[in-house]
Amino acid sequence: MEKGFLDTSVKFLKGIGEAKGKLLAEQLDIHTFRDMIEYYPFRYIDRSKIYRISELEGEMPIIQICGHFLHLNIEGEGAKRRLVGAFTDGSRVMEVIWFAGIKVIKEMIKPMTQYIIFGKPTLFRNTWSMAHPEIDVYDPALPPAGVQGVYNMTDIIRKRGIGQRLFRTAIESLISKPGFAGMPETLPAPIIERYRFPSITDAYRVLHFPQDAASLRKARERMKFEELFYLELQILRYSQNRNHNLKGHIFPQIGTFFNNFYNHCIPFELTGAQKRVLKEIRADMKTGRQMNRLLQGDVGSGKTMVAFMSMLMSVDNGYQACMMAPTEILSAQHYETLKSWGDSIGVRVELLTGSTRAKERREIHRGLIDGDIDILVGTHALLEENVQFKNIGLAVIDEQHRFGVAQRAKMWGKNIIPPHVLVMTATPIPRTLAMTVYGDLDVSVINELPPGRKPIETWLRFDTQRGSVTRHIQNQLKEGRQVYIVYPLIHENDKLNLRSLEVGLEQVRETYPGVEVSFVHGKMKPAEKEYQMQKFVDGRSRIMVATTVIEVGVNVPNASVMVIENAERFGLSQLHQLRGRVGRGADRSWCILMTHEKLAAPTKKRLNIMTETSDGFLISEADMKLRGPGDMEGTQQSGIAFNLKIANLATDGQIVQMARDAAEDVLAGNPQITGVEEGSGLKSALKLELPDLQILADQLKRRFEKKIDWSFIS
Ligand code: ADP
Ligand code: MG
Repeated sequence: MEKGFLDTSVKFLKGIGEAKGKLLAEQLDIHTFRDMIEYYPFRYIDRSKIYRISELEGEMPIIQICGHFLHLNIEGEGAKRRLVGAFTDGSRVMEVIWFAGIKVIKEMIKPMTQYIIFGKPTLFRNTWSMAHPEIDVYDPALPPAGVQGVYNMTDIIRKRGIGQRLFRTAIESLISKPGFAGMPETLPAPIIERYRFPSITDAYRVLHFPQDAASLRKARERMKFEELFYLELQILRYSQNRNHNLKGHIFPQIGTFFNNFYNHCIPFELTGAQKRVLKEIRADMKTGRQMNRLLQGDVGSGKTMVAFMSMLMSVDNGYQACMMAPTEILSAQHYETLKSWGDSIGVRVELLTGSTRAKERREIHRGLIDGDIDILVGTHALLEENVQFKNIGLAVIDEQHRFGVAQRAKMWGKNIIPPHVLVMTATPIPRTLAMTVYGDLDVSVINELPPGRKPIETWLRFDTQRGSVTRHIQNQLKEGRQVYIVYPLIHENDKLNLRSLEVGLEQVRETYPGVEVSFVHGKMKPAEKEYQMQKFVDGRSRIMVATTVIEVGVNVPNASVMVIENAERFGLSQLHQLRGRVGRGADRSWCILMTHEKLAAPTKKRLNIMTETSDGFLISEADMKLRGPGDMEGTQQSGIAFNLKIANLATDGQIVQMARDAAEDVLAGNPQITGVEEGSGLKSALKLELPDLQILADQLKRRFEKKIDWSFIS
């Protein structure tokens, strides 16, 4: 694509030049006009209000104060040299401090002149102060400034003389260049009309220099929409293409195995959610297209049964099935479960892992090729070259976040017609995120737990209450139960004052003498880890001291207490996963969140969410709002990088939906974009003319450069 106006280097903007240009690149990743114009204010403030110093309290935003300097002194030596001014508005006195540009500023400021200073006040030893404020001579004849954007800066650039004002000047100069007005539109005209969006140039201008709240809202909405629209378009193009191109096995019938199991051998009544999900899977397997379904269900919601019955659909139609889990222990546990169910109806289930002996391995290989083995359970070992199936119809992947997209593709490679794929996860991803991250997967949700579960009692306890926690654990151990104790780190780190695994292990051994303890952490050799885990699974050890490696699914129904040390260091979703390790039997169980008393209010609020709800979806949504989607588990897996500058998947759910609808409409009206002939009957098709198609092509190319087929517009 040819270089446009926005690809010009920022050094050509007023007030920037070589040196500052370099600094912006290093510090804020701003290189071009585009980077600059898309460096949106992170907040807006009302500059019509002037605060009094006596009004200041608590955590203050950036504000303005009007007054004069009583005196200005240079203090300190060398790197600590600073200019300190006493500033008053008549109500009180505050300190104003500069670490750079000292001489210039000292000469510029005149005594008894009224100034407006603009910055963030902070309270230090009972005195308010403001560092590096913007400063203007106060002119009562000028109308007060209105709403103004505030840009995020680093301390380094602030100290080197790049401030809010320089940003505004630079962006003003960018906007006044003739190239700006001549910039091409970046959304197709029918979409702009449909949603009554401002033009691209208006939107940019308003985002930096808003006139009023309403037009600012509309400009933000347009920019968020635009980002999400191209993301959705890209994901949908990719998935429609896949859906049309990848043939899948057709399983026309529900057969004897399924019916036998369901009518005679199933050990419990399926929940409504399990039945619904099985119907969704059943429907997929009849279409002739490959199924790619993500099955979300909270810990303990009964995903394994859904997986088994789906595998029976494959076996009933003369095909094999396999189930992959991320660790040997999980594979072994699944094997035990599936084998007992399989045995009851004469379905042969085998286990293959890295530690399967050579002789057994050879037999399994043979059984797979012959078709004697119906269901194979195992670890990554299933993906090895020499593991060949006679005809694999369904691959189930448990706890997907350990398996990347590449590995999924490897499974497909095992056959000419790829098997159906069911990916199971206990990480409850909020809908808006799932829709986008897993745009190429369909999503099923088990939103109901089997009946009769006792809720896990969750306690928040401080270090000072450790005695009572210890007594509770001793009681549970006396009753024959097992206990998890989880630490955030392996090694002690004084700075963060965390109780580490090593120190913790010592203390646990002292506190519970004579009790056998297992310990695992991420830096351990896999064999040692398996050994320690197995000891706990078998009940030979009674306490498991661990870092978060136990997060993923071992099942020890006898464990009744989960203690999490420094709980404030964990994300909510992570806490929820950890909590799910207990409460697997029918008895009472506890999750104890240990923390210190001096928690900040937001942290306390966050931890209290854990004590108030056990709904994984609520927790996950709260977590995403607090931490942002970037931290969510699973997001890194998405094959498509998305680098959102203004939209927020956690809070812009409605715009995500709008963008998705628009993208579907565009694809329905312009089948040439996916290369799929039939104009699918989706939604209200939006047919585009050539110049608008060109816009789509340019934008997709700019945003998702790599390997895209551009032929659709020629
Ligand atoms: P997860 O979704 O975490 O993998 P599991 O499949 O391990 O959950 O199921 C957790 C427990 O609940 C297992 O012991 C399983 O046998 C049991 N279970 C599953 N479905 C039901 C049901 N409908 N009624 C009663 N118990 C069930
Ligand atoms: Mg499971």
